Amino acid sequence: MKIEKKQRTEVERLFTWPADEPHLVGGLCKGCNTYFFPKFSEFHKPGCPQGPVKEVLVSRRGKLTSYTVQYFPVPSPFVNPEPLVPFILEIVTLPEGIEVIGQLTGVSVEDVRTI
Ligand SMILES: [Zn+2]
Repeated sequence: MKIEKKQRTEVERLFTWPADEPHLVGGLCKGCNTYFFPKFSEFHKPGCPQGPVKEVLVSRRGKLTSYTVQYFPVPSPFVNPEPLVPFILEIVTLPEGIEVIGQLTGVSVEDVRTI
């Protein structure tokens, strides 16, 4: 999938959205072959002079490596349920080696497990 070069909002810089199958928009440093998320510049870190960085769509699935149950409101961009009920914040490791934090939905607190 080709990502159009246009003026994008912050959300559009993070995700392909709206889309039937949204992806995170990451970066791949062509010099050191490192994936990262988000991709906001042409170099993935100041210490790597090897760039440039290619914009890539990273995997839609990963491994749930850690989670916590949140019992109090969290700041944006997370969405707090109304009325506030405990919800799950998770860390997923993608096949590219990237760890992303997000809000896990569609699973009850009692049913979530790491592998
Ligand atoms: Zn690099």
